[in-house]
Order: sequence, then structure tokens, then C-alpha cells
Amino acid sequence: MMKTAMERIGIVGAGMTGATLASLLRTECAESKLLVLDKGRGVGGRMSTSRSMKANSFTVDLGAQYISITEAYKDKHHRFHDELTSEGILKTLSSEIDGHRNKDLSVTNYVAPEGVSSIVKHFLNQSGAELKKSEQITRVDVNGNKVQMTSDSGQMYECDSAVLTMPVPQILQLQGSIADIINSKPDVKQNLENVSYSSRFAVGLFYNPGTKISYTWGGKYITENPCVRFVAIENKKRGLNNPKLGPSVTVHTNVPFSLENLEQDKNVMVPTILQHLRDVLPELPEPAEIKGHKWRFSQVHKAYVNNPGCVVLNESPLIVLAGDGFTHSTMDGCIASAISTKDAMLRVIGSKSNI
Ligand code: FAD
Repeated sequence: MMKTAMERIGIVGAGMTGATLASLLRTECAESKLLVLDKGRGVGGRMSTSRSMKANSFTVDLGAQYISITEAYKDKHHRFHDELTSEGILKTLSSEIDGHRNKDLSVTNYVAPEGVSSIVKHFLNQSGAELKKSEQITRVDVNGNKVQMTSDSGQMYECDSAVLTMPVPQILQLQGSIADIINSKPDVKQNLENVSYSSRFAVGLFYNPGTKISYTWGGKYITENPCVRFVAIENKKRGLNNPKLGPSVTVHTNVPFSLENLEQDKNVMVPTILQHLRDVLPELPEPAEIKGHKWRFSQVHKAYVNNPGCVVLNESPLIVLAGDGFTHSTMDGCIASAISTKDAMLRVIGSKSNI
């Protein structure tokens, strides 16, 4: 346990990294008050699961699709994997992923039957953190030994330490003294600016109960279309069969198409994406509801140099930068970042308490 007096730790981002970190901190520093802030209306970040407002259907995973656990992480993170599988949050992928390139037999693929956001919700619930949704942090300031985080609604949150887990370009957009701290460290600034992400559009299609989808695979990678890269039939991907719920489908665009149309509104792009989808899967029926989403920052293309897991930007008060930008874009990449962040926080706060 951390030896410091009770303190308030603010975590910006209720995604996989923020949620895992919160659960680790709950164990390691039980006395601390944890506050998680997110700009979204729901939790999950890029592990988001979306439901239909009109159709009584399965949900769609608009971001992460399935969880691939590599040999390197099987031992290292087995306690997280065991927890998620024993609680039924993850189960082995049983459907076919057509055109899947990674045939590495040492990799085990899992799906989240309740959608990928259930993984994030599990760790957030475990943490007991106070959660504030729809709070977009626009300023981070240092005031004496406190970190002040201010949202676009004007609300200010004062904490003893803060962890920022949003994509790195969004960290660089923050106003306040955090920008001065970053500017005062030219190497760190350059390394942050070098972190890059791919972009994608995602479309969710929701169907009424009884609608038949003739395709048998759970997911399909597409190479011969200028727009569509991946399609998942969610209920088949997750190995679920509930006749009371209609099927649902997720579509992801490819990187060149997404880059070319990055400044377009997601709703403007939906008809074009659906036209391409009809070329690829002509037997797909008309959905009852369609949801579009733009991931400006999708998966990490180039991570922070040497994949450190996190960067301690300021020691007193403590400000740490974390997230998949400091590792890589998988569930285990986020867990690795959360563990590094927890270790760095214990090191810095522990050394201060020993003075
Ligand atoms: P995020 O999930 O981005 O969390 C950051 C959070 O911060 C978000 O909730 C965001 O709302 C919030 N936020 C941002 N700015 C602010 C602000 N100013 N104020 C308050 N809150 C803010 N991974 C896999 O393992 N398997 C896959 O199949 C897979 N496929 C993917 C497909 C797509 C299309 C995408 C987009 C991602 C995919 N990934 C996949 C990657 C995976 O989703 C990410 O690596 C992971 O979700 C990143 O988690 P994170 O917590 O680091 O960041």
C-alpha cells in the first residue's frame, strides 16, 4: 500500500487504460479518492459499445472488435485475462473471421459477449471511482501542489495528482500550464508530436428481430473494395443466438479512404460507405437503424519512442501521460500502460513520502 496520506487522484479518460489504472490504484492505495472524468456520454472510449434506439437488436462494437492475446502477454497479464474469462466478460472467439491475416497459432482471440465496453465497465466498477461523464477537460493547470482540471462547462476539478489517458494529439491540444510544462521539455514535446494514429469511419447497422442475415462468418476483412475494410456480424462474432433480438452489423472503412475523407462529417459519409458495402455484401438486408462514427484517432500507428508505457510529465504535483499511445493499440497495450503508470505513481509519491 502507498504510504502517503489520503489524496485525490484525477484520471482523464474512462477508456481501457483509465479504467484499468483506476482498479489498480484502488488496490494499491486504498486511501486515495479516485475521480474519473470523460467527455463521452458513456464509458469505453475506443472500446465503445452502442445500442439501437429504434430496433430491438444486438449492440455494435464501433471501435475494438476482438481481443487477441499474444504469447508475450499470456503470462504477464494472466491475472487480468483469468478474471475476465472466469466472469464471462471475455470468451474464446468461436466464429470464423474471414480473411484474417494473423494466423499465428500462439495468439488466442476472445470476444466480449456483452460488447467490448463491458471490459472497461468491469474495471471501472471494481475501482469504485467517482465517475463524471460529459465533462471535456480543456485546461490543466498547476496551482501550488495541486492540479486543476477545467472542463468546457467551466467546472474545475482540483486533485493532488492527475493522469491523462486520451490520445496524445488531444493531450497536446490542452490549454493551461500543462502546455508550458510540455514546451519546457523539448525532447518530450518532440516525442509526443511524433506519436501518430490511423483514422477510420465506423457504421453500425441495427435490424429488427426475425431479420435473417445469410452470411455465416462473424467477421470479414475486405481487401478488394476502395472503402470497406472490415465487417462484423455482431451476434455471430460474439457466438450469441437470441431470437428476441435482431442482428447487428459493424462496418469499418480502410485507412486510405478514411484519410482522404477525414474532414467530412460522419453523417455525410454514411451513404457512401453503405453504397460500397452493398457492392461487397449484396445480400445484406436494409437495417432499421444506422449509426455513423468517425474515429479521428483510431489505432496507434507510431507509439511514443521506446514504448515506455507512460511519461511522468511533472513530479510535484504529479502529472502522468498514459494510454495506448505509449504502448500499442490492444487491450494488453492498455493494461501495460496502466501498470507502468501505477508503478511510476507509487515510485514518485513513495519517494516524496520518504523525504
Ligand atoms: P481511449 O479508449 O481513447 O480512452 C480515452 C478516453 O478519454 C475516451 O473515453 C475519451 O472520451 C476521453 N477523452 C478524450 N479527450 C478527453 C478530454 N479532453 N476530456 C475528457 N475526456 C476525454 N484493440 C483491440 O485490442 N482489438 C481490436 O480489434 C481493436 N480494433 C480497433 C478498431 C478501431 C476502429 C479502433 C478505434 C480501435 C481498435 N482497437 C482495438 C484499439 C483499442 O480500442 C484501443 O487501443 C483502446 O481502446 C485505447 O484505450 P485508451 O484507454 O488508451 O484510450
